[in-house]
Amino acid sequence: MTQNQWDDYSSAFGHDDLIAVLSNRRYPGEGRSGRISFVRAVGLNSDNLAFPKQIHSGYVEIASRPGIVPNTDGIISPGGSFVCSIQVADCLPVFFANTESGTVGLVHTGWRGLVSKILPTAVNSILQIGESLRDFSVLIGPSIQACCFEVRDDVIDQFVPAFYKKNSNNRYTVDLQKWAVHQLADSGITRSRVTVIDKCTFCSQDEYHSYRRNRSKAGRMIAIIGWR
Ligand SMILES: [Zn+2]
Repeated sequence: MTQNQWDDYSSAFGHDDLIAVLSNRRYPGEGRSGRISFVRAVGLNSDNLAFPKQIHSGYVEIASRPGIVPNTDGIISPGGSFVCSIQVADCLPVFFANTESGTVGLVHTGWRGLVSKILPTAVNSILQIGESLRDFSVLIGPSIQACCFEVRDDVIDQFVPAFYKKNSNNRYTVDLQKWAVHQLADSGITRSRVTVIDKCTFCSQDEYHSYRRNRSKAGRMIAIIGWR
């Protein structure tokens, strides 16, 4: 097991100057200052940092300046001039990068984001800025997996039946990662361009923060993507 303070997924994108990382439980920083120090620690310029004030929505914004972007859960930087960041604790950090144009993006999504179709919305935003989906690679980072994510029947109507099954607790086990991959494929990002990190944040107690495990005491992991 690595003792680093973050997981480095940069190599999944195949370009030496692209940084894609997720802090883990060993990273001590929190909040705004923790995020800025983390950006610096991984060798990026914190003056260029753009990050959403997340609301579990289906909204995606195109970054036009650094700083806080209100009321959104996805941020895309055309040409990669800004460093994008989100925070998660069980939700899926979805990294996007086009190593031809430089465009990068990050989407925060749990089940509410998937119900709101945030991933198709992110892909549409990419198309609207005139980019080719064939040049994009996507990575879904550590997040709560089917081993640990279940919901009750009060919300199950909003889920797609192909991605859940009833379990012995009379609840429903949901595969959020499979659902996310399906939404990406439906929007034109083929499966071969998507990497899914097969690590469950709830199970991996030593490694990751988990909202479902620790509730109000849970910390957050910080995801960052940007160019050196
Ligand atoms: Zn698990």
